[in-house]
This record gives sequence, C-alpha cells and structure tokens, in this order.
Amino acid sequence: MVTNIKQSVTDPKRKKNLLNVKLIKREDITNDLLKIWIEKPNGYTFKPGQYCTIGINGIERAYSIVSAPYEKNIELFVELVPENEGGALTPLIWKLSPDDPITIRPRAKGIFVFNDQWQNHLLLATVTGVVPYVSFIRDYIKKIENHEVKNDRHKMHVLMGASYLDEFSYDEELKSAALKYPDLVAFVPSVSRPNESKNSDWSGTTGRVNMLVRDYANDNSLSPNDTLIYACGHPGMIEDVKEKMIPLGFTIDEERFWKED
Ligand SMILES: Cc1cc2nc3c(=O)[nH]c(=O)nc-3n(C[C@H](O)[C@H](O)[C@H](O)COP(=O)(O)OP(=O)(O)OC[C@H]3O[C@@H](n4cnc5c(N)ncnc54)[C@H](O)[C@@H]3O)c2cc1C
Repeated sequence: MVTNIKQSVTDPKRKKNLLNVKLIKREDITNDLLKIWIEKPNGYTFKPGQYCTIGINGIERAYSIVSAPYEKNIELFVELVPENEGGALTPLIWKLSPDDPITIRPRAKGIFVFNDQWQNHLLLATVTGVVPYVSFIRDYIKKIENHEVKNDRHKMHVLMGASYLDEFSYDEELKSAALKYPDLVAFVPSVSRPNESKNSDWSGTTGRVNMLVRDYANDNSLSPNDTLIYACGHPGMIEDVKEKMIPLGFTIDEERFWKED
C-alpha cells in the first residue's frame, strides 16, 4: 500500500502533519539491536546520511536512514534503551509486528551527508552509528552500477567499533562492498572488549575506533588536505576523535545520537 498526503494526521500538540505508515518487517539482531523496514510515503525524498522522524502513540524520535534513496522501503537500525534507563520510543518499537502503524514526519532532515568535495572519507562509527555510511555506500555503488559516476574520485574508509562481534550487523555487506569495490570502500571492524568470552571467535582488529583513528589515517596516508572525517554514534567517541584529530588539522563532521549525562 502506498501512503500519501491524504492519509496524514495532525498531531494536535505539535501542529505537524504526520504521515501514517506501516511496519513492513523486523529483524532482531541481538536483544537490544533491531533492524526495521517501514513503508516509504509517496514522494518521500532524502539524501544518504539524513534522518527521518518516526513516532508511535505520539512519541517521536529521529533515526538516521540505512537505506539508500533508490530503495522501496525505509530501513532503520535501532538500539533499545530500556524503560528503566529512560527509553520511551524504543521499548514501543520492540513490541512492533508487521503491519503495525507508525507515523513519520513528511520530510527527512540533517546535514550529515556525503560531501563529494573531498577525495577521502574516513567514516567512524560505534554500532548504530554505521547507519549513514551504509546509505552513502549503497547509494554510491548504485550510481557506479548505473554509470552515473565513475569509481575513480572517492574512497570511503569505514572504521566501525563495537563492544561485541554480534553487534556488527552490516559487516557482511560492508566486507562484500570492500571486496567488490576496493578502490571505493575499505572496511575495518574492531571490537573493544577482545578478552570477553563473547568475543572469543574474534581474530580481527581490536580497540576503540577513537584509539585507532590516528594510526589508521597515518598508515593509509590520509591527510587533512584530502580527507574529511565523519564521526557518528557514541558522544564519547566523537569527543575523543575531535580532541585527537582537530589539532592535526583534520575537518570533522559529526552526528550525535544522544547526549552524555
Ligand atoms: C539525528 C539523530 C539520528 C539518530 N539515529 C539513530 C539511529 O539510527 N539508531 C538509533 O538507535 N538511535 C538513533 N538516534 C537516537 C534516537 O533518536 C533515540 O534517542 C533512541 O532510539 C532512544 O529513544 P527512546 O525514546 O527509547 O529514548 P530517549 O527518550 O530518546 O532517550 C532516553 C535516554 O537514553 C539516551 N540514549 C538515547 N539513545 C541511546 C543509545 N543508543 N545508547 C545509550 N543512551 C542512549 C538519551 O540521551 C536519554 O538520556 C538518533 C538521534 C538523532 C538526534
């Protein structure tokens, strides 16, 4: 079913037009990580890296969009904040089943988007912070496949950190992208708690992305003149990256998903 403006409702408190959409499907990744796909309203447009605002029972929150604009549905990757830790919308998202109603504001927003003026893009993420980068890469690959761009100008280096290996839910996709388009994508997942039993199968990179970023830039000859750093996810990671990389002359774009207390 296609949603259009006629189906919009007005939230009396906010006086905003909200569109009604449905949950298409959900995929539980861990107990507190979930992928959801929701209907994309007719005429809904966004740039890779932008966020949508969805709601249930009048509670609304922002979510960066995983999917690329060419995709039929809107894909989101959500981390649960339990009710006893202050979560309001995410506990409701966790109860959703296919066909359940959700609202979405009519316009995507955000300036954390791919900046094609730069040659190198150093994309730093913690867990759900990888979302905008997946959208960048899906969009770029589609454009290569459609012969709209050539694969000779940009390189995206994704450094993705997580405490546990089961939190890397887009790792297979990013690994495949890096294998198929090595001139476009490099992907380095890193676990920050390598000694914990849940990570006993891990043989890859270890350490927090904020601790790896300087060496990574150095080892890959990424210079402040040709490289834009993006930092998305945990506010502590973003702060530390800024402290380390701004004094070296790097420009940093950031998207904070929440504020640290
Ligand atoms: C531009 C933007 C994009 C976002 N994109 C995503 C996304 O792609 N995926 C996603 O899961 N969230 C994303 N968020 C966060 C999201 O909007 C919600 O805040 C989050 O899902 C929690 O919602 P809630 O209503 O359950 O709790 P809230 O009422 O929003 O928050 C309760 C408390 O938890 C803190 N908090 C929120 N998120 C987290 C977290 N992940 N870890 C620890 N503490 C947290 C808040 O700061 C607050 O103190 C984004 C936020 C912004 C501003």
